[in-house]
Amino acid sequence: MDAILDAIQSGASGEDIAHLPLPESYRAAYVHRDDTAMFEGVDSWDKDPRKSLRVGDVDVPELAPDEVYLAVMASSINFNTVWTSIFEPLPTFGFLDRMGRQGEWQKRHALPYHVVGSDAAGVVVRTGSAVRNWKPGDRVTVHCNYVDDQDPSAHNDSMLATNQLIWGFETNFGALADLAVVKANQLMPKPAHLSWEESAVNGLCSATSYRMLVSEHGANMKQGDSVLIWGATGGIGGYAVQYVLNGGGTPIGVVSSPERAELLNKMGCEAVIDRRAEAYEFWADEHTQNESEWRRFGKKIRELNAGEDVDIVFEHPGRSTMGASIFAVKRGGTVVTCAATSGYMVEFDNRHFWMKLKNLIGSHFANYAEAYASNKLLDQGKIQPLLTKTYALDQVGDAALAVHHNEAEGKLGVLCLAPEEGLGIDDPEKRERIGEDKITMFRS
Ligand code: NAP
Repeated sequence: MDAILDAIQSGASGEDIAHLPLPESYRAAYVHRDDTAMFEGVDSWDKDPRKSLRVGDVDVPELAPDEVYLAVMASSINFNTVWTSIFEPLPTFGFLDRMGRQGEWQKRHALPYHVVGSDAAGVVVRTGSAVRNWKPGDRVTVHCNYVDDQDPSAHNDSMLATNQLIWGFETNFGALADLAVVKANQLMPKPAHLSWEESAVNGLCSATSYRMLVSEHGANMKQGDSVLIWGATGGIGGYAVQYVLNGGGTPIGVVSSPERAELLNKMGCEAVIDRRAEAYEFWADEHTQNESEWRRFGKKIRELNAGEDVDIVFEHPGRSTMGASIFAVKRGGTVVTCAATSGYMVEFDNRHFWMKLKNLIGSHFANYAEAYASNKLLDQGKIQPLLTKTYALDQVGDAALAVHHNEAEGKLGVLCLAPEEGLGIDDPEKRERIGEDKITMFRS
């Protein structure tokens, strides 16, 4: 991989890169099948990704005709890597085994190890024989929607495909590595004004928020809509705030510290709820929800939202907040959810839901068009990367632990082949036009 990195750094042509020999193995972050029981009996919170995420050499797999090898310059930590590394709710080897039964190329994925990671920025080094639109030397970002586009169920909205998977979570050969195997239809042009690590952190979270809020498949937000955003300085929440502001809406951000509240104000989100300071107790005990706390929450929202309930709730904590979210959204409003960080068996009072004609929309990542639209907004400088900090690939366990323990705002980047931060900016004039302060707003 050293020769490939040298070629990228020295601006070698795509043709030169295409002729460089590929190694037989590469450095990758992975979990191992032998470890799936290592946290038995341990509380979720105490399951430590540093124990389960190994970094070492793995074999380079064969390339299918519709795939490329990507030299990964940088990647990022997503919550799905936390789930994989703590083997919750299930070990991800089940996904790989199921995939392995689907065909010859899929068989490659069912291995004793799972190379994780669902975001990347890098350079194409080889293309499979059926790849038409991309070539060696192309500088790209990657979205994680892994779909067989020959399946008719994938044609209208590729997220509705029966075979839809998330790359690097439900497939092998993911992004937290020096090399990755990527389907050509996952590639998107890298924004030229961003560094490798700034380009690598957006794909999964930004596109997820785009579908949830902007797309007709999600809440289809209109100008003037007010949107309550849980975890508003987190990975998906931080992009959600930007989409709301960008689309002429009013975000009401929920966070858990004064520092996060201040960061929201800096982003242009004036209405902020510090959930820790307010000390909401939505659950009286494990089985009973506290309607009076929902009412206190609703009152706080109306204080911040010109006396009105919100049009949309951007929901993902799950069990701890869903009852309050359904209660707080306005009559006829929409709660859109993509996750359940605090527990997936959610509960809400159905009377408030049906009598007030509310909507609940399930959303998951983004189809090709939505991922592309989100990447374009980043390229135009209308949406900014939320990079706060980078880690070396060898420290991937520390980075995953920080996300697991809600210690980080925005996104944590991981340098893979990139030897340092700040490389890969191909259009410094565009960067200056957009503004360094905007692009680096989340840097700690
Ligand atoms: P993140 O960066 O860790 O941010 C999540 C934020 O949620 C935290 O910063 C925290 O903010 C807030 N939060 C956590 N627990 C909470 C609770 N019990 N009550 C209220 N707020 C809580 O994670 P992320 O990347 O934004 O991902 C969030 C969730 O979405 C994860 O479960 C992830 O797996 C899921 N996700 C799903 C998809 C999909 O396609 N389906 C895509 C991306 C992410 P404060 O402490 O500041 O309030």
